[in-house]
Amino acid sequence: MTSKMINNNDMAIRSALEDAERIAIFSHIHPDGDAIGAQLGLAQVLRQLGKTVDIYNQTGRPESFAFLPGMNDLSPWTDQSPEPDVKIALDCGNLDRLGLSQAAWAGKRTITIDHHAGHEPFSDLNYVDSESPATCAIMADLCRKWGFPVSAEAATCLLTGIHTDTGSFRYEKTSADTFSTAAWLMTCGADLAAIRYHVFESTSKARFQLLNALYNSSEFIFDGKVAVAEISHDLMASLGVADDEVHGLVGQLKEVQGVELSILLRELATGEIKVSLRSKQYVDCNQLAGEFGGGGHVRAAGCKLKLPMAEARQVLTERARSYLKREAL
Ligand code: 5GP
Ligand code: MN
Repeated sequence: MTSKMINNNDMAIRSALEDAERIAIFSHIHPDGDAIGAQLGLAQVLRQLGKTVDIYNQTGRPESFAFLPGMNDLSPWTDQSPEPDVKIALDCGNLDRLGLSQAAWAGKRTITIDHHAGHEPFSDLNYVDSESPATCAIMADLCRKWGFPVSAEAATCLLTGIHTDTGSFRYEKTSADTFSTAAWLMTCGADLAAIRYHVFESTSKARFQLLNALYNSSEFIFDGKVAVAEISHDLMASLGVADDEVHGLVGQLKEVQGVELSILLRELATGEIKVSLRSKQYVDCNQLAGEFGGGGHVRAAGCKLKLPMAEARQVLTERARSYLKREAL
């Protein structure tokens, strides 16, 4: 068995997938468009190759991506789940984010494909490219290179993840290669109209009201370099907003001129505070989130704090201050 290092030996991964009969695909807890798109896309590809494919997520189905083909098959992994020949984790930077214990993840052969900064390898075979803007972009490029069949449905899943993780081709990891990959997925038949309608033009009224509340309560501190907003559990409950509908809101706070870093603090049902960080030009969000046991990417990261809201806000903004350029203060 190979050691758990980032070896990026994609041909070994291809062989492992080809040799397997039953493959289980996992995505990170509270999956976003990239995690779910890569998972459902790869499931389609492997099923077309004649594999038996099971798909798992420990926090269940994200309703906002319910339009993607294959979503109904998604369920949490349990002790009773059929043991596959290969387990593959997508868009997941460490084992914690998978929501499984080490014992549950262990299997005949384990694989991870990911693009997170500071990835901590936890599988036998690992393909990690932190320069890539999306796991879906890596997945599409590998399928193309390997000559695996990418149907129109699979292409729609993969293009969804590229669209969402690049902020619709805006964020800094978007490159000429990203557009080439997206163009190739369009030639495979990706349904851009479906993505536009379901991902970008189907905001619920509850989410819209939350956005309104967020705009009204957001504060601009440290000379306007940092935007901070809070969402209480009561507000989420009173508006009837689902957890996965909060995606993207922190990015909107960053759109204000002069803001370098946006911070969204959301109180979970458990009382913990889920923190989302986004930066524009220089703050290393991955490092800042890392100070609190979280992680992600340089321009987008998150963590959880076991503190009351006011304290969480205090410690986070205090640490955030040290990341701002001196002349900015
Ligand atoms: P979001 O703010 O949208 O929840 O997450 C932004 C990025 O940070 C995503 O790539 C996500 O995987 C990562 N992330 C969010 N929360 C955590 C966390 O608690 N731990 C780690 N390691 N990564 C996180
Ligand atoms: Mn991703």
